[in-house]
Amino acid sequence: MNTTNHTNNVLVELRGIGKFYGRGQRETRAVENVSFQIRDGEFVALLGPSGCGKSTLLRIITGLMPPSAGEVLYRGKPLRGVNEHATIVFQTFALFPWLTVEANVQVALQARGVAPAERRARALKLIDLVGLDGFESAYPRELSGGMRQKVGFARALAVEPELLCLDEPFSALDVLSAESLRGELMELWTSHTLPTRAILLVSHNIEEAVLMADRIIVMDKDPGRVVTEIQVALPQPRHRKEIHFLALVDRVYAAVAGETPVEPYVRMGTAPNEPGKTEMLPHAPISAIAGLVEYLAEEGKRADLYYVGEKLSMELDELLPAVEAVELLEMATVTGGDIALTALGGTFAAATILARKEIFAQHIRPLPMFRWIMNELQRAEQHRLPLDFFLNVLESEFTAKEAERQFNTAINWGRYAELFEFDDDRDELYLTNGSTPAAVGGSTASAK
Ligand code: ADP
Repeated sequence: MNTTNHTNNVLVELRGIGKFYGRGQRETRAVENVSFQIRDGEFVALLGPSGCGKSTLLRIITGLMPPSAGEVLYRGKPLRGVNEHATIVFQTFALFPWLTVEANVQVALQARGVAPAERRARALKLIDLVGLDGFESAYPRELSGGMRQKVGFARALAVEPELLCLDEPFSALDVLSAESLRGELMELWTSHTLPTRAILLVSHNIEEAVLMADRIIVMDKDPGRVVTEIQVALPQPRHRKEIHFLALVDRVYAAVAGETPVEPYVRMGTAPNEPGKTEMLPHAPISAIAGLVEYLAEEGKRADLYYVGEKLSMELDELLPAVEAVELLEMATVTGGDIALTALGGTFAAATILARKEIFAQHIRPLPMFRWIMNELQRAEQHRLPLDFFLNVLESEFTAKEAERQFNTAINWGRYAELFEFDDDRDELYLTNGSTPAAVGGSTASAK
């Protein structure tokens, strides 16, 4: 922990922050009732899956966007408009291609009316600090991705922000450049070379958060909210293979993945004609589901989620939906950061391709989304319906983007299970011979 410059002075305070995009049926509750503080001297990470509202919170904290509910206090005063004490480093930094490295760093200082001599001195010092000494007159096209991101950091630091906000600044870099840039930033931060008083890092990479932050705020989505906070009381520099480091990574995984509900939500019967928001499908392709189950079967049925993610090279954003899907299909359960295969999961892993499809079909058929799609197709003329028919209904429940994602996942799963087929000439879904009314279990619905 960065204890030496840690005091209890609160720099930023969020009180009951809510942000809603859109209106009426299409309203997205991006974040709801979020409250936390960032103290002077702290490095805080906001961690959670895509869509849990991390970027939204960053934009609210820096004053780029007002909240719909609640308020932000900066050094105890309500924040109005852009926060002049904060800057953001984005995933990919928009450097001006026609300006040199030095001119790119000076841009923000120019905008703030700093005199030319002072501008130059500050820019050169920062370029040196981030390790780009000798590249002052180079143009962005002459630099590697990692070096360009360093220019981005230098530009953000040039205005000497009290609060440095980092929006997944390492995720667009290759593994080695990302690791070296993390190390360099930590060195600057822990040696107090930066005028910065606090850092807020947005990440969906658990190890990165444990490596860098003093405190991790774990978020979840639908709606975006804070689930828990975890202190990382390990001295810097931290080492990824060290036992206490691994134990913390495990704890954070457990907090992010949660536990398998005792009563799977599938069983909460809703009417077949209502796709229903509570029954959203996790966006996991069949390949990820099968890969996860096969891996668990090979590993002796139980494994650490952290280890699984690493072994399958799956980022949190791929791993979590796959884990959710295997839980939903009752092929595995999750407790305390561990994932364990169920008997059904074991059977699936050992089954032939045809038997796998059959197992899959049996377990997705009761899901409200598939009950609804199958029911509509059974009632339709020639058991066919245009894609738009389904999308329109889903759009009354989800945003247009989410409706499309839900439907794409449903088609991916349904086709694999051979519940229905997709006619891409006519953009229609239709029931295959094997899934017409008689075959789906004696439905009384008949074709019109
Ligand atoms: P994260 O950074 O964690 O991925 P975001 O803050 O980008 O999450 O998004 C949170 C939620 O708000 C998501 O459901 C996203 O689709 C939605 N959202 C974000 N920005 C907008 C916008 N400008 N209009 C409508 N919805 C948005």
